[in-house]
Amino acid sequence: AAKRAGRNTFRYYDQRLDEISEARFTMLQRLRSAIENQEFTLFYQPIINIKQHKLDCVEALLRWPQPDGTMISPEEFIPLAETGGLINDIGIWVINQACVFCARMRAQGFADLRIAVNLSSTQFKDNKILSTIKQALAHSGLPPSALEIELTESLLIEDTDNIQQQLDAISALGVTIAIDDFGTGYSNLGYLRNFNANHLKIDRSFITHLGYNTLDDTLVTAMIKMANSLGLKTIAEGIEDTATLRKLIELGCDGGQGYLWSKPVSAEKLTALLSSDYLNVLNKDSA
Ligand code: C2E
Ligand code: MG
Ligand code: MG
Ligand code: MG
Repeated sequence: AAKRAGRNTFRYYDQRLDEISEARFTMLQRLRSAIENQEFTLFYQPIINIKQHKLDCVEALLRWPQPDGTMISPEEFIPLAETGGLINDIGIWVINQACVFCARMRAQGFADLRIAVNLSSTQFKDNKILSTIKQALAHSGLPPSALEIELTESLLIEDTDNIQQQLDAISALGVTIAIDDFGTGYSNLGYLRNFNANHLKIDRSFITHLGYNTLDDTLVTAMIKMANSLGLKTIAEGIEDTATLRKLIELGCDGGQGYLWSKPVSAEKLTALLSSDYLNVLNKDSA
């Protein structure tokens, strides 16, 4: 009986795997046609200089709107696009769209606005990312210093020599580099020695309980000190309330991003947001 139960369990498991790979396959097909039909859109979220209470940058975040009005999260489809060989095409579209958008905003009066674009490690595999970035800058007329690329720690640990050469060439253009989700990847910090990052984005998981969890306070304090002594500026991700913002200002953090100012919004909504009183969060709080 035990044997039979075991076999049934196996059969059930196989079936589940089939269902999963079938779902993946269907989703990949849908992703492919989404690229062809230009179904993607970019949302934008402000990154604030929290020392001067000024807008510094907007991060471009990919969205895949569905016919029923919902959005599929990039957390769901980016990993699939990476393994399914589609991330390069999506990535080229994202960089071009983001550069054109930022150049247009600058022409419309947001003269110093910068834009941050997320890159996945797969986009470094074919050695074309440098020319993709150059072309997007040339085509949009955006100055290289207005573009920031965001990379996760895991990318910086992988295949280091090749990726590092590409990053050096990108950084030589004047494009800046941010380390995204800092603190969640690996504990090997040796990579920080190897290339010129400009910004270190402290992952939201360390920010959420700041001021309530002494261990997080200690870790964030240490991250900011370490970044500063390496010549990197820090940006805190996921700031949702003024208490957290005040704490980060006290700790000497340079930048911040989060729902406190705004969720990521469409291009149309961003213009309205940037023309509003959204930066004035601390005054509103004490009023
Ligand atoms: P990320 O680059 O770390 O982006 C920040 C994520 O945190 C965004 O999620 C943003 O909506 C969310 N967030 C911002 N502020 C807050 C806050 O105050 N509270 C909370 N709870 N969340 C906040 P999103 O847009 O779902 O993107 C998820 C991830 O998908 C990104 O994480 C990035 O790794 C990836 N991604 C997005 N767009 C692209 C892209 O164009 N290319 C690549 N390769 N990856 C992308
Ligand atoms: Mg990011
Ligand atoms: Mg992040
Ligand atoms: Mg993230």
